[in-house]
Amino acid sequence: MPKSLERQNAARQDVARQDVTIAGGGLAGLALALALRHGLGTDARILVADPAFGRASEAGDLRASAIAAGARHLLEALGVWDRVAEEAEPIRSMEITDSKLADAARPVFLTFDGDVAPGEAFAHMVPNAALQDALTDGARAAGITLLAAGIADFRADGPGIALTAADGTAFAASLLCACDGARSRLRERAGISTVGWTYDQSAIVCTVGHERDHEGKAVEHFLPAGPFALLPLKGRRTSIVWTEASGTTERLLAMPPALFHDELERRFGLQLGALDVLDKPRAFPLGFQMARRFVTERLALVGDAAHAIHPIAGQGLNMGLRDVAALTEAVTDAARLGLDIGGPEVLERYQRWRRFDTLAMGMATDGLNRLFSNRSDVLRLMRDVGLGLVERVPRLKDVFIRDAAGLTGAVPKLMRGEAL
Ligand SMILES: Cc1cc2nc3c(=O)[nH]c(=O)nc-3n(C[C@H](O)[C@H](O)[C@H](O)COP(=O)(O)OP(=O)(O)OC[C@H]3O[C@@H](n4cnc5c(N)ncnc54)[C@H](O)[C@@H]3O)c2cc1C
Repeated sequence: MPKSLERQNAARQDVARQDVTIAGGGLAGLALALALRHGLGTDARILVADPAFGRASEAGDLRASAIAAGARHLLEALGVWDRVAEEAEPIRSMEITDSKLADAARPVFLTFDGDVAPGEAFAHMVPNAALQDALTDGARAAGITLLAAGIADFRADGPGIALTAADGTAFAASLLCACDGARSRLRERAGISTVGWTYDQSAIVCTVGHERDHEGKAVEHFLPAGPFALLPLKGRRTSIVWTEASGTTERLLAMPPALFHDELERRFGLQLGALDVLDKPRAFPLGFQMARRFVTERLALVGDAAHAIHPIAGQGLNMGLRDVAALTEAVTDAARLGLDIGGPEVLERYQRWRRFDTLAMGMATDGLNRLFSNRSDVLRLMRDVGLGLVERVPRLKDVFIRDAAGLTGAVPKLMRGEAL
């Protein structure tokens, strides 16, 4: 038999029967693979399938994510945090302003200390590319099979689920996790519908260098078109998430660099000195989407496949990582009792745990965006009074910070820093 065929056959045997198959090797999918390895041990057969594994990464993901303290505990338990720690910038304080674009000053209405506990930042800014690399290296080192093909088809079949990858590989698993993003084909294939809407807003993302230190301060300027967020990165660099009406973002991105720079400076200000745009700005269309169910027979939706929200509070990935921790706990507990890890009890427990929490966070971010992204002077007055009241009640601020840190509600063990 030719060597290439032998290799293909060996690879197919290797993927023939899995305990868990994960469709999607983005941040949520790879974190789930590592968390399940942690919970189920080295004997578990775990496969992650993603067509992107086979592609050379083009520009890569230039975004950075605010990783909340709860999500950091999870990444620590998975041995991933050490791999990104050098690139992670703690958010030491936060300021919220509310003004019109043309206003001469951006008055601060609300401030937060960044610590959720003494010396522990409520969140760190981590470049997505660094996190993706760390998770991929971690998955390889943990013996997780990475298949460079999408999942094309699947059918729940009594004790297992039969799967076909786009390269023709056929195999079976006890549980299929759809981590294939907001436009999940697996969710659609499973007949799970979604509720949602678009915001007619997009977020421009870019990295900006500046002359002076940001001192770990994150700033959110609420402007009538939407929030303009300055998020501190390592060194004298800041990640910008700049929300505008979708037509405006297109115009801004089509501008010559000098004009784009002027528009950026109008919003950013000169408090950190001269600015330098360090990468090619990109726009992400924004919307709200929630799956009507998170599970069906032998299938669980995780991450953006289950929910996609406005980035106004930097919570989308944190919610996905909370799904990861909750599903891992449900699966691990079942495995320890000798139960079927893809059975209805496990899936229902996961859905009960995550669905309400997700809906609450999704509606909160939707409400915030609607309250702040508008030109009404009456609403502006009301929200500024509200912000001023919160500013005067330290206990209320503590509640908000613990919530943003992902440490309130039914927190899964891995996010509390506890062993499974
Ligand atoms: C501008 C912006 C800023 C943000 N900032 C933050 C932040 O600060 N903090 C935060 O918590 N969140 C933030 N988010 C949200 C966060 O980026 C997302 O929630 C997160 O990246 C989703 O990860 P995921 O792995 O669920 O999905 P994706 O990243 O979409 O990954 C899906 C993967 O599935 C693969 N795939 C697709 N189809 C198939 C198939 N059939 N079979 C197998 N694989 C398939 C794709 O190739 C891809 O790799 C932000 C979002 C935006 C737009």
